[in-house]
Amino acid sequence: MQFIDLKAQQNRLKDDIDAGIAAVLESGRYILGPQVQDFEAKLAAFGEAKHAVGCANGTDAILLPLLAWNVGPGDAVFCPSFTYCATAEVIALAGATPVFIDIDRDTYNMDFESLKQAIADVKNKGELRPRAIIAVDLFGQSADYNVIAPIARENGMKLISDSAQGFGTTLNGKHPLAWADVQTTSFFPAKPLGCYGDGGAILTNDEDLEFKLRSLGVHGKGTDKYDNVRIGMNSRLDTIQAAILLPKLAVFSDEIEKRNVVATRYAEELSGVANRVPVVMDGVLSTWAQYTIEVPDPHAFADALKTDGIPTARYYPKPVHMQTAYEHYPVAGNGLPNTMSCIDHIISLPMHPYLTEEDQGRVIEAAKAALA
Ligand SMILES: *Cc1c(COP(=O)(O)O)cnc(C)c1O
Repeated sequence: MQFIDLKAQQNRLKDDIDAGIAAVLESGRYILGPQVQDFEAKLAAFGEAKHAVGCANGTDAILLPLLAWNVGPGDAVFCPSFTYCATAEVIALAGATPVFIDIDRDTYNMDFESLKQAIADVKNKGELRPRAIIAVDLFGQSADYNVIAPIARENGMKLISDSAQGFGTTLNGKHPLAWADVQTTSFFPAKPLGCYGDGGAILTNDEDLEFKLRSLGVHGKGTDKYDNVRIGMNSRLDTIQAAILLPKLAVFSDEIEKRNVVATRYAEELSGVANRVPVVMDGVLSTWAQYTIEVPDPHAFADALKTDGIPTARYYPKPVHMQTAYEHYPVAGNGLPNTMSCIDHIISLPMHPYLTEEDQGRVIEAAKAALA
């Protein structure tokens, strides 16, 4: 059994993907070929955004808007610690200071009380300017933008939705961009919408920002790439990856539905068995990038499932604020109690749209046996 079965998806889409790659080889337009524009337009339509800008990966997708807004030294950017390191890395790369926020104990997403506390503390200290919030749609679930967006607005801060895991999630039928200044995503192969290499995108409704992002991603180009009006970087979405993403995007809604079928069965069978099964907020459609439960001893649990040929993974036993490169940055309040209380228990089960009913049953039986 695979943790994420990319081959099963490839079998479904192989003819279209092969034809897409062949068309790029035929045209020879490897850099910003027509498939990139086509994909950007379809991605924007899917995400109900005015603009989608492709870039090289999901990390650059968060870095580029920070650069566009001149976020840098002296600026505080608030983000959860319970996330992939890239969320915080871009803040430090831009020269600003990441301030780590606790999570809600049920959803694993940014806790707004902790966020408010951290903003107040930064203001009181007066050393840093609060500039931006990066909310993460962790494991595929929309953050609680109904409360986070007003906090950003009241404090004059930008709001980024790091939707590398959650692109496609909706809250009351709306995508995170309905609240955020930008929504970013990653096409790393294992993400819900992945390509066959690295890739990323930024969605925004702000035309000036779109223009700047396109410039920053091509060495700060002005009228053309040999006219350099700002310091930028080289961050484009490959034409071949765009060609691969086009057929994948066409089935993405169907895949999200299929993931929800798996998640519903897991929840029915494992609630009351595991210490916790995922809590999805009212009104949220999750993309289920991960199906993460909590158990008393995740190491013993992983060993037991491995014996039955079932892979598991752990996101994230060591949160970013405890990593060597980040431990000197400030954290909200007096530590991050909710983050600290989940990290010794979390473990993720196989989750992808093509997980057969039989394999779902094997995972459930093995999990029940391990927790009996
Ligand atoms: C994967 C991921 C990223 C980074 O995406 P890459 O394409 O690997 O650069 C950023 N944030 C989160 C939450 C992620 O899961």
